[in-house]
Amino acid sequence: MKNMLIGDQWVSASDGRTLSVVSPSDGRAFDEIPRGTAQDVDRAVQAARTSLTGAWGQLNASERGRIMMRIAQKVLDHEEELAQIEAKDTGKPMTTARNDIKVLARYFEFYAGGADKLHGETIPFLNGHQVSLLREPLGVTAHIIPWNYPAQMLGRTLAPALAMGNGTVLKPAEDTSLSAIRFAELALEAGLPAGALNIVTGLGEEVGAALSGHPGIDFISFTGSNEVGTLIQQAAAKNAVKCVLELGGKSPQIVFDDVDVERAVPIIVRAIVQNAGQTCTAGSRLLVQRSIYDSFVAKVAEAFAKVRVGTPEMDLDCGPVMNPAQHQRVQRYIDQAREQGIPVLAEGQIAADAPATGHFVKPTLFGPVPRTAALACEEVFGPVLAAMPFEDEADAIALANGTEYGLLAAVWTENAGRLHRVAKSVKAGQVFMNCYGAGGGVELPFGGTKRSGHGREKGFLALEEVSTTKTLVHYHG
Ligand code: NAP
Ligand code: MG
Repeated sequence: MKNMLIGDQWVSASDGRTLSVVSPSDGRAFDEIPRGTAQDVDRAVQAARTSLTGAWGQLNASERGRIMMRIAQKVLDHEEELAQIEAKDTGKPMTTARNDIKVLARYFEFYAGGADKLHGETIPFLNGHQVSLLREPLGVTAHIIPWNYPAQMLGRTLAPALAMGNGTVLKPAEDTSLSAIRFAELALEAGLPAGALNIVTGLGEEVGAALSGHPGIDFISFTGSNEVGTLIQQAAAKNAVKCVLELGGKSPQIVFDDVDVERAVPIIVRAIVQNAGQTCTAGSRLLVQRSIYDSFVAKVAEAFAKVRVGTPEMDLDCGPVMNPAQHQRVQRYIDQAREQGIPVLAEGQIAADAPATGHFVKPTLFGPVPRTAALACEEVFGPVLAAMPFEDEADAIALANGTEYGLLAAVWTENAGRLHRVAKSVKAGQVFMNCYGAGGGVELPFGGTKRSGHGREKGFLALEEVSTTKTLVHYHG
């Protein structure tokens, strides 16, 4: 039985209720977390507010950075333990989980260095005046994250907010709260003052709704579904606070006829099967120039058929999907595409000894997928790749931009002019050229266009999102 963190107290829910923690690999419950309440959220927001005038708020920027660097080191010192917690909770392969913990440490390291480097300026103004622009924290920041990369997500959203001196409240996903709880213990051991970080576990419609609608918060960072993203923006609007929304994607791999095939194929396969396709930046559409469509897609199919799915300990290419709802959702997309007569070009294999009660899905490559099919337009959030031919550069751009999303894209061609023309024409927050980078990339500003959301995380820009300015005008004669 785990507790959650409010101020410096590890507490159960105010009404004592709990939620089971279930393993996606075998469907069995193995732990419990508090099912937090609106009252718990209220206490967490107050603790975060109090921290701003307490020990946390009194630290100078370099001291904040030093504590964050110690947190990064603590995470690295506990990499194996945290990776095992994460793998058990999410079902992901151990190698992936270890990488996620390294990325979590990297977020704290990167933003530790940023804590004392984003600062104000002086502004020339009227004679007899001195104007200075101060850089300040927003205040209490709320962070609501999903279950696909729990450790990475908490680093991505919390590290810049802490670097800028905010008091934070985190609501992890109900399915995956364990790494956040262990992380918070380590953060306190590393010297993070009480109240700088609060964690309230529980349900989205209870804790998430109470937190995002709380009048005491100054900012919301949300990653998750478009449906909930809309609710978050409404809640933010009511309190007139800013929100950063990182929502879904349907990211295209745009492959021209002069592609370096040997280099591209494994990267394209990994970009969709990584984390069982449960990645907002998954490369879920494979757009291939018609002249090489058959031969290129055949190569991808060959690699795709070798993908192996299993438990964390088996440490194969990917694990199960998160929960029964996700299992049904992904399977429904696969079944419907088959019923529509869309050809299956390749399937990965589920390990024979994977538990029958686990949420395992066969990675599936479909093609050619009609441009109007659900698979061509909607986010599956599973290991399902939709291949489609295009005619020329203009058609590739139109097809790439033809969904409501705009998160990531990749362009594959040896023609430098075409590489840049297409990259500039594609609507996306990040465009990879002859490479792909789902996850990681702590240094690289990241976020959506169109329905993929707004605001930027990662990189230096994230520090601006979670801070504000104050203009001081002094008449000195
Ligand atoms: P979700 O419901 O949007 O969950 C994201 C976070 O929001 C979770 O912490 C969730 O809590 C919380 N939440 C849920 N309802 C809320 C509400 N009314 N107010 C405030 N917070 C709320 O996403 P999901 O249920 O985990 O997954 C559903 C679909 O979203 C997936 O199939 C996938 O398509 C998409 N998704 C996208 C991303 C991404 O990175 N872009 C990540 C995950 C999922 P609970 O955990 O308690 O629900
Ligand atoms: Mg949910």
